[in-house]
Amino acid sequence: MMLRDRRALGMRNISISIDENNAMNTVNFCGKSPFFPGVEEPAAGGAAGAGSPSAPPDHTQDVVSRLSAAGLSMCVSALGSPARSSPVSAGSEHGERFSRKVFVGGLPPDIDEDEITSSFRRFGPLVVDWPHKAESKSYFPPKGYAFLLFQDESSVAALMEACITDDDKLYLCVSSPTIRDKPVQIRPWRLADADFVLDASMPLDPRKTVFVGGVPRPLKAVELAMIMDRLYGGVCYAGIDTDPELKYPKGAGRVAFSNQQSYIAAISARFVQLQHGDIDKRVEVKPYVLDDQMCDECAGARCGSKFAPFFCANVTCLQYYCEHCWATIHSRPGREFHKPLVKEGADRPRAVPFRWC
Ligand SMILES: [Zn+2]
Ligand SMILES: [Zn+2]
Repeated sequence: MMLRDRRALGMRNISISIDENNAMNTVNFCGKSPFFPGVEEPAAGGAAGAGSPSAPPDHTQDVVSRLSAAGLSMCVSALGSPARSSPVSAGSEHGERFSRKVFVGGLPPDIDEDEITSSFRRFGPLVVDWPHKAESKSYFPPKGYAFLLFQDESSVAALMEACITDDDKLYLCVSSPTIRDKPVQIRPWRLADADFVLDASMPLDPRKTVFVGGVPRPLKAVELAMIMDRLYGGVCYAGIDTDPELKYPKGAGRVAFSNQQSYIAAISARFVQLQHGDIDKRVEVKPYVLDDQMCDECAGARCGSKFAPFFCANVTCLQYYCEHCWATIHSRPGREFHKPLVKEGADRPRAVPFRWC
């Protein structure tokens, strides 16, 4: 149980660096999977991702000081323990720092796909995409933003190099048939922003972890961690779910708490208002449902040792159940209306009607 959880948590070596220029702190996980490996769904071909542009975190200093207070060396040693370490080098398996998928916003309204492609072609081979591009058969990005899918990560670095910086945002001038040199916002996704450890002294417990749905794409793990910590306290980790191929945010995240009270407070709220910079969005919070847990009632005795298919998120239960035990426990007065959560195709938990047999 403990061993499997540790593996499931995917915690490996960590290196923490502090960029002196902007006091941004970076937590680089060594190893591929940020948190729960094998739960990511394939990239939903150019799924929605508008959102408002990301603002620089206004509390990085706070984060840095909190990390210092917690003891950076302690963070590193606790998470880099032999049980969790891997020989993989820093960043990612190829030393990548950025997703090959880059958001570009504020495009001239009359710029078409070919013109966007040729505007960015000098940085390397790319494909231009936007949400529902295939279905709509539109030749123009309908909402003034698009995604650049570069073949090589080095193109992203070259693009960023060519940008001008204003208020910590990156801009590049692009022309359309009617508008010359319009500054458009370039928003690369830094891979290290997908994970943030707030309290490395606590073991990550998947049973004190919540799933956060509808996370605005520019939100970084550090920002999610700080928001949830401000609301409920006790946050030890936050992760942004990314697609396995391009490692770009999918619009969901996970937050692990160090204590049951914070976890219960978060799942009881069901919705939280994520406010950060330009971002202000109500998002859904659910228990994080795993598909490799044994029934907490019978430990597999009544279900042939199969993994439990149901999780009850009611605070009086908060347990995994096999079908048999679900029916037994929930036939008791007061529990008839509990709804089983199952792990959905990817990692989004959903409620299902339980069929009494
Ligand atoms: Zn059972
Ligand atoms: Zn229940």
